Amino acid sequence: MINGEGGLLERGLIACHCLAIETGDGLVLVDTGFGMEDARNPGQLGAYRHLMNPQVRAETTALAQLEALDFGAGDVRQIVTTHLDLDHSGGLPDFPEAEVHVLAVELEAALHPALREKARYVGAHWRHDPRWVTHGDGGDEWFGFESLRILPGIDAEILLVPLLGHTRGHTGVAVKTGDGWLLHCGDAYFNHGEMATPPSCPPALSFFQNLTASDNAARKANRDRLRELASRHGDEVTLVCGHDPHELEREQDRASVAATAE
Ligand SMILES: [Zn+2]
Repeated sequence: MINGEGGLLERGLIACHCLAIETGDGLVLVDTGFGMEDARNPGQLGAYRHLMNPQVRAETTALAQLEALDFGAGDVRQIVTTHLDLDHSGGLPDFPEAEVHVLAVELEAALHPALREKARYVGAHWRHDPRWVTHGDGGDEWFGFESLRILPGIDAEILLVPLLGHTRGHTGVAVKTGDGWLLHCGDAYFNHGEMATPPSCPPALSFFQNLTASDNAARKANRDRLRELASRHGDEVTLVCGHDPHELEREQDRASVAATAE
């Protein structure tokens, strides 16, 4: 129902896929997953905890994984968030010095949620008063999408590609890599099958996405545009989303092959 394989009653698996980008000016983190305080105090995640049963452990936080690579919290100078849902923003307090880039409309939603949005945001994730950097709509064109170049001062090319629908201010994040672009699509889709032609999606994930979208028509339209991008420009752009464990494993394999080749 969740992964499209395994038994009907088998527990499904969902990942939190973050990116860490090494630049000449420290690390840029794209999304943060859950954080240390979520692991210490999972009760702060509210009803979501009972619905999704997240396995929040200190050793799988972005901070712990970076420390295992000999980085420290202070090395993360910039965080770019696809959106501020609790499963993407929990690590913000672990990097209190970082600037946090977000679409202005998303920050507005998170700080002043409507009644139906309240369960998705956790105020404890920004109690430390992050150094927000808000961005408006895109200005440039990127493979037919609106885009916005951020962090012009650093040597990595990083664009926001607004993909509204899952939340009010949801955005993709495009990163120029050695061989093309990597587009982190956040929660614009949940399963790699949605980017295939013809598309497919495990039923529980379809249900969940319809249920949680702030604008479901916009969400579906953007998902379909992404599928078209994958089919027309799949050789130049690699798509990953926030929660597909299959994509996470694929990209981890690719990264370790690249590291071995260096
Ligand atoms: Zn999510």
